[in-house]
Order: sequence, then C-alpha cells, then structure tokens
Amino acid sequence: MIKENLQSIRATIPQGVTLVAVSKFHPVEALQEAYDAGQRIFGESRENEFKAKVAVLPTDIEWHFIGHLQTNKVKYIAPYVSLIQSIDTERLLDEVERQAVRFEKERVARFGDACIDVLLQLHVAQEESKSGFFPDELLQLLENVNIRERWPHVRLRGVMGMASFVDDPNQWRKEFRQIRACHSALLDGPLKAQGISSEQFNILSYGMSDDYQVAIEESTNMVRIGTSIFGHREY
Ligand SMILES: *Cc1c(COP(=O)(O)O)cnc(C)c1O
Repeated sequence: MIKENLQSIRATIPQGVTLVAVSKFHPVEALQEAYDAGQRIFGESRENEFKAKVAVLPTDIEWHFIGHLQTNKVKYIAPYVSLIQSIDTERLLDEVERQAVRFEKERVARFGDACIDVLLQLHVAQEESKSGFFPDELLQLLENVNIRERWPHVRLRGVMGMASFVDDPNQWRKEFRQIRACHSALLDGPLKAQGISSEQFNILSYGMSDDYQVAIEESTNMVRIGTSIFGHREY
C-alpha cells in the first residue's frame, strides 16, 4: 500500500517540489517500505522517536524535524538532523547554534559540514494552538540582529507553515500566500541586507495531505505528507 500511495502522490507533484514523507507515529517497518520504494526524505516530530528511527534505518536517509522542538531536546537530534523545519523562537536558534558547535565532529563526519540547516516556522493559521513566528515579529527580529555573527553555525534555508485546520481551500490559499509573502519580505529586506541570497534561503515548506494540491498551486517547493502515504496515525 505504501508503495502505491507514494507512486500516486509522486505523480501529482511537479519537478522541483520536494516530498517529505511524514512518518511520525509509524513503525520502522513502514518507513523501510517507503525507503524500498525510493523515498529518502522523512519527517519526524518527536525527539525520542526521531533518534530511535535514525539508529536502525539506512544511513542515506535525510531526516527532517518538523514538530515543536523544546530547547532542551535539540541535543538529541543535532548530530543527525538534515533540516529543522520548526524553528519558532529566537531562543531555539541560539540553542541550535550551541548544539551545532557541540556536535561539530559528528556533523562533519556525517554531512561534511557542522552547520545546521533550518526553516523558520510561521504562524499564519487561525488556531492559537499552532506555533511559529508571526510574520511581522520575524521580520523585526531579523532586522535587529547580525545573523552571521549570532548564529554562524545555523543556515537559514527558508520558511515553513501550516494552514488552518478548516475545510476551506480559499482559507488555505490565503494563508499559503501569507507564508510566501513573508519569505519575499525577509529575502528583500533583512536577508539581502546581510548578504543571504535567494539561493540559500530558497525553501518554501507548506502543504500536507489535505491541502498540498492547493499548496502546489501557490508555489510551494516542499510538501510534508503523512496520512496519504502511511495511513492514519494511532496516537
Ligand atoms: C503531521 C504533520 C504533517 C503531515 O500531516 P498529514 O496530514 O498526515 O499529511 C505535516 N507537517 C507537520 C508539521 C506535521 O506535524
């Protein structure tokens, strides 16, 4: 089933859009099946589960962390993570910087580079419960900090966001546009001013099982899909 699901999803995703298979709460056998069907990028949302899966699955998997990350847990994923998609506070960036330095040896051995790639998570949905920076808040933060001096081992790669949990494609579309607008504002403003290029800050991560087709229409280049690949999660 997983193989067929992956094939039919891939058929709907244009070239240039990266598919992250969101495997949280699914057993390693399910991930192995996706791996055998050619999937190499997986997204996890809990530190323990992340670490346990990294330990037993093939080493050429690219692991993304997509869930809410507590500062005291960064150390568990820092040696292995390819992309932290869920940076939602300034403090968390400070901690990622610290752990990148601490695990420099491990990261250089694994990736050839100590720096950790991250996405800035934006809060565009209506639900209070979702985390992330508000676009204005993020813009202001980056305008007032020397990015390379403060976080020399963190590479800002783009933005991530989630649409509201409503059954309304127009609402999703509106929120995806807010994410994209914030990406442009960051790029044209504080990032360009500090020499961070559009080649580096080039990831737009939005779109999940229910809304990824709309996300593609709204120029996403990274979709994070769980349920449509692996089925429903049992929490
Ligand atoms: C769980 C999760 C997904 C995947 O959601 P599905 O609806 O199962 O595709 C994507 N992004 C984030 C941040 C998630 O937590």
